[in-house]
Amino acid sequence: MADDCLFCRIVRGEIPATLVAETADCVAFRDIDPKAPTHVLVIPRQHVASIADTDDAALVGRLSLLAAEIARREGLDGGYRTVVNTGPDAGQTVFHLHLHLLGGRRLTWPPG
Ligand code: AMP
Ligand code: ZN
Repeated sequence: MADDCLFCRIVRGEIPATLVAETADCVAFRDIDPKAPTHVLVIPRQHVASIADTDDAALVGRLSLLAAEIARREGLDGGYRTVVNTGPDAGQTVFHLHLHLLGGRRLTWPPG
């Protein structure tokens, strides 16, 4: 846990968030500034700065599978996108690994 990490603080309940799922090692909550009708962030409870900073394949797999389960629950039958921004060039602004789950509208490609 990192004392000053925003998402660690959400995991600890120090900052409010709209939780949508909790497992033994993952938490999912709604993005505060949603870019689509469904915009959920799926994160590990433990502090990992980015996907480049872990070799825990099982954890990364569980993040992805939890996103898929939430997508089913949210009724995203037409499809959805999962995104992991890694590093400044990709626009990562919170340096606690998180997987964006976006859906509920037609998403364009390529991204900006
Ligand atoms: P990224 O740019 O990939 O690092 O994504 C960080 C995401 O965290 C952005 O989509 C923000 O809108 C979101 N965010 C920032 N602060 C909060 C918060 N307090 N609760 C929920 N989402 C947040
Ligand atoms: Zn953290």
